[in-house]
Amino acid sequence: AAKTAEYIWFNGAIMPWGDAKVHVMSHALHYGTSVFEGIRVYDTHLGPAGFRLTDHVQRLFDSAKIYRMPIPYSFDEVMQACSDCVLKNKLTSAYIRPLAFYGDVGMGITPPKGAVCDLLVAGFPWGAYLGEDSMEAGVDVAVTSWNRLAPNTIPTGAKAGGNYLSSLQISTEAKRNGFDEGIALDTNGLVSEGAGANLFVVKNNKIYTPPSSASILMGLTRDTIMVLGREMGYEVIEEAMSREFLYLADEVFMTGTAAEIVPVRSVDRIDIGAAKRGPVTKKVQQSFFGLFTGETEDKWGWLEPLK
Ligand code: PMP
Repeated sequence: AAKTAEYIWFNGAIMPWGDAKVHVMSHALHYGTSVFEGIRVYDTHLGPAGFRLTDHVQRLFDSAKIYRMPIPYSFDEVMQACSDCVLKNKLTSAYIRPLAFYGDVGMGITPPKGAVCDLLVAGFPWGAYLGEDSMEAGVDVAVTSWNRLAPNTIPTGAKAGGNYLSSLQISTEAKRNGFDEGIALDTNGLVSEGAGANLFVVKNNKIYTPPSSASILMGLTRDTIMVLGREMGYEVIEEAMSREFLYLADEVFMTGTAAEIVPVRSVDRIDIGAAKRGPVTKKVQQSFFGLFTGETEDKWGWLEPLK
């Protein structure tokens, strides 16, 4: 198996990567019953720091709450596990993946009364998700034929394993057709999000992003960019947007923990603006990455040094 780090945290203990095993009859494997997070640790001027670690762990517990999945560890224990799996691997920058799931609880769709989740927390190195080049050159995206989940089917506000079947369709269709990534519309035909990233539009020096009602995950990078954008003096507007609003944008960019901030240079082979990273996207990137060098003042306590 691919080994991405020496150690992993699993059900309360740090152990060698290869020892964290589950049974093939695990509930989550059959029915997608898992909730998870993706958190980046940056090597900052304050030392290795989890970016909005507390907010991510809160979202993990929120996702579990939506599905009534009991996580048998306290908030503080999960926070510590996130730190431990990075520090034990002697990493200074990392991607942390906590995942709570129903394991070997039996084959009924409804887990038996009293069943609790297993929890793993993995920390491992992970570079730019869509490639280093893309941060400047931008990516070519397509609106996919797959809609995002309807709000009354599977809640997109939970970061659950099963949701990523939708993401898989969005992403793989785009790639099969020669694009870098896909963007989905919601079931009303309005712009939703990418497979694993939120979406922003810049038009006439204003910054727009689809609202929570557009079947999106409320990304923490999205929230960060909204705050930083306003801090920089931009008007930032959550608003439903049509597909053609993308085509006529001055700039489009996508945001996510893994993706960070990726400029979009074309949508459906229509050039966006000058078909390269635009000035607002560049400023937003600088402001965001400046948090990790201290150039951008962290007024919000988003950097959480690991201990
Ligand atoms: N939407 C989806 C579907 C995602 O998987 C992610 C990545 N977690 C995002 C948006 C961006 O969220 P965040 O900025 O919190 O990573």
